[in-house]
Formats: sequence, structure tokens, C-alpha cells
Amino acid sequence: METKRIGIMGGTFDPIHYGHLVTAEAARGQFQLDQVLFLPSGTPPHKDPTQVTDTKHRYTMAVLATLTNPHFEVSRVDIDRTGTTYTIDTLRILQDLHGTAVRLFFITGADAILEIMGWKDSQELLGMAEFIAATRPGFQLEDQRGTIHHWFSSQNKRLHILQVPAMAISSTDIRRRVRKGESIRYLVPETVDYYIRKNRLYAPDVQNSAVHHE
Ligand code: ATP
Ligand code: MG
Repeated sequence: METKRIGIMGGTFDPIHYGHLVTAEAARGQFQLDQVLFLPSGTPPHKDPTQVTDTKHRYTMAVLATLTNPHFEVSRVDIDRTGTTYTIDTLRILQDLHGTAVRLFFITGADAILEIMGWKDSQELLGMAEFIAATRPGFQLEDQRGTIHHWFSSQNKRLHILQVPAMAISSTDIRRRVRKGESIRYLVPETVDYYIRKNRLYAPDVQNSAVHHE
């Protein structure tokens, strides 16, 4: 059986935006991935759970955003687990699901890869997947290259650096824009923009909300 190459893109996706999508598509092309799985987080270990939008909404927005790409899929693996979800467990579950005929590629932005380096189980993680660190505006991957290469040197080139067309987009900035009544058009897919409005996510100011969609 031919080995399936699966990209995994974890995130809070609160909300999903074009930075995530362009990164996933670049990884798919560069590493000949058969599929990219988007994994919205359940209870994120590194974020305050009370500050994160309901998983139902984050999952639905991810589905809407990936609908038109036949290689993109949204996985509920992290959502459906109770308690704190750890990446190591996620990788184990996905490996079990697909058996040995799968090669996992864990895709992260420059900021997230630096975080992962600090995790206690990072060495074990490296044994389970290859890591793709995507460039991201505002985060200096290049400066850290020495550190990253040192860290990965014992791991037979299991870290790849991926140049992504620069998108200075973050979910934090999108939430701020919605709150202030500013446009997020062209930062997120149109369906996600509509979904945010329809469900009144990110608490837009009432007096500003009329200006979005004329
Ligand atoms: P927040 O501002 O809430 O942290 P975010 O925009 O960073 O949101 P996440 O859900 O935290 O989005 O990120 C999921 C993954 O996507 C991470 O690995 C992150 O580094 C990566 N990523 C997010 N935005 C970009 C971008 N514009 N370019 C490249 N990678 C990105
Ligand atoms: Mg982030």
C-alpha cells in the first residue's frame, strides 16, 4: 500500500483565516501531501479556556473555510476529547487511525514551532511526525534557525522550513477588528465573515455593526 502523506494543522482557529489556509496549501504543494487535516483545539493547554470561543463555532468556521478544497478536511479529534488535549496524544490517535501506511507532517507557524520546542515531550513528538515550520510575518524564524537546527540535528532532518506568501493576519487582530466594527473582508473567507456576523461572535459594538455589509 502506498504511504499516505497527511499534514496536520492544529490551532485555536478563533477564527480561521487566510493565513492558516495559505500555509496549509503551501505545505500541501511543497510536501506532496494527500490531505491536510485542520484540528481545532478542544481545551487549549496554552490558552485560557474562558477566553476561547465555543468549539461549535470554531469547528463550523473551519468547515466553511475548507469546503472548496478537496484536500482539506476538519478533524474533531481534539474537540471530542475531554480534559486538556496534548499534541502527543493527538499524534498517537491519528497514527492509530491510519495505521503504519501514513506519514504525518505537523504544520505550524514560526511562533508555534518555537513554543513546541519548549514542551517537555518535544523529543518524543519529533519521533512521531515531521515538522513543517512556516514563515509568519512578525515572527523571526530565521534568527532562531541556529537554535532550531541544533535542536533538530539529532532527529534526521525532521524539521522543514516552509516559505509562505506573507500574510500578516492573526485571529487576535480579526477579533479586535470585529469588536471595533472594522471590516475583515479579504482576511477570512466570505462565508466565515458572514458566520461571524450572523452569530454575533467577538462582540461587535452595536452602534458600529450596521456598517459591515451594506
Ligand atoms: P491567535 O491570534 O488567537 O493566537 P492565530 O492567528 O495565531 O490566532 P492560531 O489558531 O493560534 O491562529 O494558529 C494556528 C497555527 O497557524 C499556528 O501554528 C500558527 O503559527 C499558524 N498561523 C496562524 N496565522 C498564520 C499566518 N498568518 N501565517 C503563517 N502561519 C500562521
Ligand atoms: Mg496563535
